[in-house]
Amino acid sequence: MNLTIPLRESGTVAAPSVSPATLPGIGALTAHPGDPSATAAASGIPTSRRPRRSIPKVLEPLERWARDSRRLVGTSRTPVRILGEEYSLPRYLYVGRKGGGDLQRIGIFATLHGDEPEGVLALGKFLQTLEDHPEIAEGYAVFLYPLCNPTGYEDGTRHNRAGVDLNREFWRQSRHPEVRFLESEIWMQAFDGIVTLHSDDTSQGLYGFVKGSVLSEHLLQPALLEAGRYLPRNHGAVIDGFDARSGIIHSGYAGMLQSIPGMSRPPFEITLETPQQAPLHRQVDALVAALQTILVEYRYLQAIAQNI
Ligand SMILES: [Zn+2]
Repeated sequence: MNLTIPLRESGTVAAPSVSPATLPGIGALTAHPGDPSATAAASGIPTSRRPRRSIPKVLEPLERWARDSRRLVGTSRTPVRILGEEYSLPRYLYVGRKGGGDLQRIGIFATLHGDEPEGVLALGKFLQTLEDHPEIAEGYAVFLYPLCNPTGYEDGTRHNRAGVDLNREFWRQSRHPEVRFLESEIWMQAFDGIVTLHSDDTSQGLYGFVKGSVLSEHLLQPALLEAGRYLPRNHGAVIDGFDARSGIIHSGYAGMLQSIPGMSRPPFEITLETPQQAPLHRQVDALVAALQTILVEYRYLQAIAQNI
């Protein structure tokens, strides 16, 4: 696959192709017949006795960029204790070349549902794209949170090991350390934009949620268009129980990851959803295409705003 994605400000950029063979741990991530975790799930073996997926393995591409990239300036691992075991919540900071305007701070959150590894894999590929095409991230500080639910990822479950859907817990005085850490990051980093990556096993196509700034919809539209080079869009009038138009939903679940409620000038907020039954490498490519489009379009909209 060698598709070309037009970028508004910098000509064209060849979209990097990805094959299943280049994705880490793919055998353990998809529910292929013969996959031990899938077999364990199907056979009703309790979660606690299934083999755990490897966190170091899935983070390996990001760790490699952390070592090799001059622009990946900061990584942190915030320790958390979940049901008596020590875990850490990783964060990577990629600082793009200086642009013309103010630095824009973007937070990207993935794998808040542990059985959606598409997000963490997409962020590894996204970093590669930024390295190959640094103009995409010009003027940005991009904060990546690739594995927001480490115990759910290990277990291959939507919920964390305490049995909680973390994406219903935000700004509700949650006691779960994953949510407390992410809320504190949202407070402290004062993001201009928040993007969350999910995949939906009940959807046949791409779609997304918008909240926050009115700009959000004007960013999601082109993002879905570019991602549509890899996967079809969900054009249903109702998606996931919400009214939708051209794959865009204007509401959302109470307690989903979002900016601080009640802000007078909220950041743009986008949740991207891929159809989980589609081939993994296509979901990864679609998410990467959507993310780079959001950065390019937002910079373009900021430039227009500054000239008004
Ligand atoms: Zn999800």
